[in-house]
Order: sequence, then structure tokens, then C-alpha cells
Amino acid sequence: MKAIGTFGTSAYQIQALQLFRGADSLRLAPLLKDCPIIQLEQGDVVTDAQRARMYVVLRGALSVAADTRTGMSDGTISKVLPGESVGEQAVLDEEANQASITALEQSELLVLEAELAWQLIDAANGVARNLLRLLSFRIRAANAMMRKRQKLGEFYRQMSMVDGLTNLYNRAWLNDFLPQLVASAQATGQPLSLIMLDIDHFKKFNDSHGHLQGDHALRTAAQVLTGALRPTDFAVRYGGEEMMVVLPDTNVQVAEAVAGRLCQRMRDAVVFSDMRLPLPHITSSFGVAALADGQDDIALIASADAALYRAKEAGRNRVMVG
Ligand code: GH3
Ligand code: MG
Ligand code: MG
Repeated sequence: MKAIGTFGTSAYQIQALQLFRGADSLRLAPLLKDCPIIQLEQGDVVTDAQRARMYVVLRGALSVAADTRTGMSDGTISKVLPGESVGEQAVLDEEANQASITALEQSELLVLEAELAWQLIDAANGVARNLLRLLSFRIRAANAMMRKRQKLGEFYRQMSMVDGLTNLYNRAWLNDFLPQLVASAQATGQPLSLIMLDIDHFKKFNDSHGHLQGDHALRTAAQVLTGALRPTDFAVRYGGEEMMVVLPDTNVQVAEAVAGRLCQRMRDAVVFSDMRLPLPHITSSFGVAALADGQDDIALIASADAALYRAKEAGRNRVMVG
């Protein structure tokens, strides 16, 4: 990085620079006359970029690793080409430039100290207009970046709401959405039902067939649920071998019928392709509850859980309504 002269003695044209386009060159020329030009070799880093100053690219190209204050601090790198500049924001708020600036090829830069930048703005309002346009562009870019990141966050949030083994929604999803579904049902007076189910004697299943077959059985049970439900219903892995089905707009009679169908399909489900093992390979017990007036999500779950407990007590592989 070395000083190679001033703008006044160079062949560069004021109007070729974005910042000065359309501004009164006659007023700008005397101010820019003694403004230093520095030369960078490829890979050179602008070492005094911490000062509040602007660099206008006259020739070559710069890579700018984003200014943290624009919200683009996630490794975003932008390329600055001849006529463009970097550091406007640093000059405007008179704070140090946070960006890290590297030359992508041999480049020449015009260095504008903050004080001079203000003089240029005062001298020709075209400079102010260009700066505003530039900043507005930067803000838009930063906003677009933030929206993109928000979407990504949403994606990961959804990822963390799905159980990895079964692909059913998980407990985190339930904690988030069941209260909303309950509130909406209470507000509209629409029914809402919950089916809670637990695989029977699953500990014994694991002990006899091994944990891997146990996992396979869990996936099979999950497929039974997802294969039998309407698109508006939700299947959740509540924990271990306990699952849950949330049925919006569904009264208790219909929910009981759905649970009966699921109970039958569990008995019919093939976990082992080995034909010598007779069905059922797995059975489950089911507890059904419908949302009562004034009930919250916790009470609804407790009610379905109590019904499930009675189904277990009564001999398993059956449906009970709370
Ligand atoms: P019950 O009929 O009363 O429900 O008896 P159970 O044996 O199913 O109930 P218990 O709660 O005693 O045992 C549940 C078993 O589920 C124990 C645990 O090892 C097994 N289990 C829980 N999560 C998983 C899992 O992700 N994979 C496998 N393979 N087994 C699991
Ligand atoms: Mg069980
Ligand atoms: Mg259990």
C-alpha cells in the first residue's frame, strides 16, 4: 500500500466516480485536487481502514468483508469496483470503519478523510444525493439479508420441532402449538380432540428383539399414525414410546372412532418381514379426550393420559375415552 500522487495530478475524471456523478465538478475539483491516491497490490489489506474515511476505487477491485453495523456481519463479502466506494457510513457517523478491505487485484484508491467528505457534501448537493442513494441501497441489501436469515432461522426451528427417529412432531412442537390450537378452539367454539397412545409392553419388545428392532417398531408405529390421519391432524412423539394425535375440529365420537381404527392398524402393522412371526407384532393402548369448556392444554393432556392409563389397566390393546 503506497501513496502514488494526488487526484489533481492524475488522469481520473470526477464524473466517472459514482459519488460525484451529476454533482458540480467545478466546485468539487479544487477540493479534490490534493486528495491522495494510494496503490494496493493484489492481496494487500487497507491497514488504516479503522479511521473514519472513505475510499473510492479508481482502478482495480476491492473485497470488503462487511461492516458489522450494517447487519451484514455474517461473513458477507462484497466486491467494490471502479467508481464505487467504501466507508461512507463511517464518514457519516464519524465512527471507525469496521470493514476489512482487501485488494482483489492491483488497485488505486482515492482516500477521502471525513472532514473532506463533509466539505464535498457542503460544496455540491449532488454529492449528498449520491450518498443518500448509496446508503439506501446498502440498507435495502442489509434488510434483504436479514429476511433471508430469518427464513433460515424458521427452517431450523422447524427442523428442531420434528423428532429425528420417527419424523413426527416432537414435544417442543406440542409445547408451541397445542396451546394455540386450544386457544383457537376455545375462541371459536370448535371441538378439539386428543388421542394419546403408548406401545404395549415395549420394554419386553426391546429386551426380546433388541433396541434396533425397537427403533424400527417405533418408526412403524409412527407410519401407522401418519398413514391414517387427515392432513389437518397432527401426530406427535410425546416421549419414548408414547405418541399423540391432535385432531382439530373433531368431536369425541369421531376421535374415538379414529383411535379404534389406529388400534386396529397397529395390530396389523408389520414390523418384522419374517413371516414366521405372527401378527400382531406390536399393539398400543389409546386414551381419548375432547377439549372441555375452559380447559387448557395441560388439562386436556392429563385427561387423555388418564384415559390411556385406564386402557392399560383394562388389559392394553384398546381404546378408552376420558
Ligand atoms: P406398558 O405396556 O405398560 O406401556 O409397558 P412398556 O414396557 O411399554 O412401558 P415402559 O414405560 O416400562 O417401557 C417403555 C420402554 O420403551 C422402555 C424404553 O427402553 C423403550 N423406549 C423408549 N424410547 C425408545 C426408543 O427411542 N427406542 C427404543 N428402541 N426403545 C425405546
Ligand atoms: Mg409402553
Ligand atoms: Mg410408556
